[in-house]
Amino acid sequence: MSSLSLEHVFKRFGDISVIQDVNLDVAPGEFVVFVGPSGCGKSTLLRMIAGLETVTDGNLRIGGTVMNDVPPAERGIAMVFQSYALYPHMSVYKNMAFALETARMPKAEIETRVRKAAAILQLDHLLQRKPKQLSGGQRQRVAIGRAIVREPQIFLFDEPLSNLDAELRVQMRVEIAKLHAQLGCTMIYVTHDQVEAMTMADKIVVLRAGKVEQIGSPLDLYNNPANQFVAGFIGSPK
Ligand code: ADP
Ligand code: MG
Repeated sequence: MSSLSLEHVFKRFGDISVIQDVNLDVAPGEFVVFVGPSGCGKSTLLRMIAGLETVTDGNLRIGGTVMNDVPPAERGIAMVFQSYALYPHMSVYKNMAFALETARMPKAEIETRVRKAAAILQLDHLLQRKPKQLSGGQRQRVAIGRAIVREPQIFLFDEPLSNLDAELRVQMRVEIAKLHAQLGCTMIYVTHDQVEAMTMADKIVVLRAGKVEQIGSPLDLYNNPANQFVAGFIGSPK
């Protein structure tokens, strides 16, 4: 069964059509990258999957069940944003624990989950620090940690590395790939950076002006771009 599927999904804001007839099947454990120029609808698509935007038309299924009207917290999804949006007055530990405390999880279970996430992300020694006492890469790891502790079936990343410098971006790419291998969960990753897409993806979805231009493996897209747009964005010209 698919981990996630989109069936003829549309999004309109008033008269403006932002997503048009997107169809996609994501297998469990797959690493899928949405790539395309700024404004093409990547974030909107991700936000619909997360439940932060409504689906105007079509079906969104998670684990086979239509989820169009299911609240975000009940979708088994966690999202990592571009701006880290950490709580500045809370420690690293508290930043990771907060959503679980709000959901009234027992303290011992929260501690187990936070310590496990901290170990995976090498944040063990930083749990008592405040966000402003961390480097950019460490802050981004805390943001990922907040997603991990929720033990989601599906992780969504919206351009998580775009605020980092080039060197750190490469390092975090490797870390996210490792995390994917370690957790074995489905990840959907949005970027406008074709190198990121080509190096990280099992499957790439190329978007342009709200429509899917092509879906395929990095090699498919490189060897057989569907059109000039995909060729220009990803591979060599046909
Ligand atoms: P991307 O993430 O690929 O840069 P977005 O999904 O943020 O693109 O935006 C896609 C299009 O939808 C843009 O033209 C944007 O202006 C428009 N859009 C996004 N959110 C809204 C909104 N709440 N109301 C109206 N238009 C929006
Ligand atoms: Mg965006």
